[in-house]
Amino acid sequence: MAQQHIHCIVNNCHYWSQGNKCVANEILIASDQFGNQYADRVDATMVKQLSPTPVNSCMESCCKSFVPKGSGEINQDGIKKQSM
Ligand code: SF4
Repeated sequence: MAQQHIHCIVNNCHYWSQGNKCVANEILIASDQFGNQYADRVDATMVKQLSPTPVNSCMESCCKSFVPKGSGEINQDGIKKQSM
């Protein structure tokens, strides 16, 4: 299977890497409302327990896995960097 890449230009994220790549081993995209409502630990590692959150446009969705580079919150959600 061809390797998939997530391209991301949010370069202050812990998972961002050179060439505008996301190197998280998994991420969760959700509605902005969901992102606002749930704590950082609610993320891709809990996906089987989460209900879908429809949106009307890209402006209403967010990357729930974003965590600022150097932040103390990096380990809250159990997401790891991929070994490249
Ligand atoms: S976790 Fe989300 S915001 Fe962070 S680099 Fe990956 S796609 Fe971008």
